[in-house]
Amino acid sequence: SAVYAEIWEGGLREDLREVLFDADVIHDRVIEMGRAITRDYTDKHPVLMLGILKGSYPFLADLARAVNLPVTVDFMAVSSYGAGTKSSGVVRIMKDLDRAIEGRHVIIVEDIIDSGLTLHYLRENLRGRSPASVEIAALLDKKAVRKGKELEDMGARYVGFDCPNEFVVGYGLDFKGRYRNLPFIGVLRPEVYS
Ligand code: 5GP
Ligand code: MG
Ligand code: MG
Repeated sequence: SAVYAEIWEGGLREDLREVLFDADVIHDRVIEMGRAITRDYTDKHPVLMLGILKGSYPFLADLARAVNLPVTVDFMAVSSYGAGTKSSGVVRIMKDLDRAIEGRHVIIVEDIIDSGLTLHYLRENLRGRSPASVEIAALLDKKAVRKGKELEDMGARYVGFDCPNEFVVGYGLDFKGRYRNLPFIGVLRPEVYS
């Protein structure tokens, strides 16, 4: 939007080498995803939108406001990356759900699928808690990263965009805790890492 364009002239935006997904593009796609969820879950009840902290917070906020159904919202926090840019393969639950999900239709809302390890672990963990169903809504999918690997198809029902094999920041995605507040998604300049 014009407001964002004005706010993000210069300043923190200068740390980006390139913008991959602009705010308007993200917004339009998230609205479409919300419509699809509204359609698919009309006869399913109760629906729980489960945001994975912290990266999913803008996506969950926008997506949930595009779903015209009586959903509830809960959060889990998991840690798989530490402070750097590479997956450690170890998933730890730092904050669990507030309420049981037994009999609920759970939609896991995640910022990005990279190796797939986090979501694979989470989905199996949640399936052990007797939900009515578990689906995944991910804004970005780095599908090419998993080509030929065991987790190639994560079976995410809702995916916003295919993501190139780059470390991206913005719209919830961080580098060392920063850049989550960018309304767009992009790639950092190499100098920022050093
Ligand atoms: P995965 O387990 O699929 O490899 O990814 C787990 C988490 O790592 C994602 O939910 C996300 O928080 C983080 N992650 C993966 N790829 C990226 C990326 O390109 N940029 C950022 N900022 N985080 C990422
Ligand atoms: Mg995440
Ligand atoms: Mg992170």
